[in-house]
Amino acid sequence: MTSRTGRHFLQIPGPTNIPDQVLRAISAPTTDHRGPEFAALTTELLASLGPVFGTSGPVVILPGSGTGAWEAALVNTLSTGDRVLCVETGHFATLWQRMAQDLGLYVDFVPGDWRHGAAPEDIAERLAADTVRTIKAVCVVHNETSTGVTSRVADIRRAIDATGHPALLLVDTISSLGSIDYRHDEWGVDVTVAGSQKGLMLPPGLGFNAVSDKALAASRTARLRRSYWDWRPIIEANRRGLFPYTPATNLLYGLAEALRMLEAEGLPAVFARHDRHAAATRTAVQAWGLEVLCADEREYSSSLTAVLLPDDQDADKVREIILERFDMSLGAGLGKLAGRIFRIGHLGHFNDLALAGTLAGVQMGLQLAGVRIDPSGLAAALDILREPHG
Ligand code: PLP
Repeated sequence: MTSRTGRHFLQIPGPTNIPDQVLRAISAPTTDHRGPEFAALTTELLASLGPVFGTSGPVVILPGSGTGAWEAALVNTLSTGDRVLCVETGHFATLWQRMAQDLGLYVDFVPGDWRHGAAPEDIAERLAADTVRTIKAVCVVHNETSTGVTSRVADIRRAIDATGHPALLLVDTISSLGSIDYRHDEWGVDVTVAGSQKGLMLPPGLGFNAVSDKALAASRTARLRRSYWDWRPIIEANRRGLFPYTPATNLLYGLAEALRMLEAEGLPAVFARHDRHAAATRTAVQAWGLEVLCADEREYSSSLTAVLLPDDQDADKVREIILERFDMSLGAGLGKLAGRIFRIGHLGHFNDLALAGTLAGVQMGLQLAGVRIDPSGLAAALDILREPHG
């Protein structure tokens, strides 16, 4: 194996690079999870999580990856045989609706081309046609990590409200929370699903559900089987700074540190940084003469960019060369996009020079792979990074 020097460039769209402060926090000795010190930490954590989700309601911290948090959102609010409306924005939306089916729900899956977000008008049309109100929830992925396309959640909420339909709105923010502007309360979301390993700059292992009053009310009558994922004992124990089981103590130390970092930078500045890096990345891609997969500029993702290669090129080959020559990992094309795209993650603990290095590595890799590109792409991105900003 080639010997490596310096740091590996982990530019997949999550898990993301972990700040040294967070790694140090995680490495602290484990304390008594039923003791007063830990209760104080939990109480502080729960208070500082709210602003990141844009909610004053409960945020449930779950031991598990994002997939576990998907399941918690469904099993706490729905009953066997309920209908849910899901939208095919990409690979992750497809997996979430499959889980809903596995759990015994009937899924109306609105087809999509994996280049657009969920269309508010399609959702409104389906709900308006459901005159007997059998659809109990709408599931939307805010930032489709497989495609680099966002869905306009505030517009979707407005479209749902215009139909007067009472369905719950469940939103996956696994690759947007802490990176892209998001407002659980203001946008009337009922359950926001998140994970630790992307914008929150932690290792994988924590999931989250932010819960509206309406979702809490639904959880009182929902009949899907649940035990470990049940919100109620968690919310109850959290009131005293506790959990009903042994929590992932050291990840929670890391979470407290990551939240302090986000607060110190300020969420508006965090979002602006992600927007700038995404804009610089798209500028490079377009100047190279390649296509950004996202087809609607209102839906560009600020946490990752998916790059579509010409039909005669193999995106996995490009990624392989970049890993081998420059020690950088990029995201693979998932599902039906395998080999057709690669994904550049520019989220989490990241800065201008890290992006410059990332784009330099991508440009050299494309050239080495024999993809015909205009080499002005990197310089065009640097022009953007050089511009003064707030
Ligand atoms: N949803 C989205 C948008 C994701 O990006 C991912 C993972 O990358 C998941 C769900 C699944 O989460 P996990 O792999 O943490 O279980």
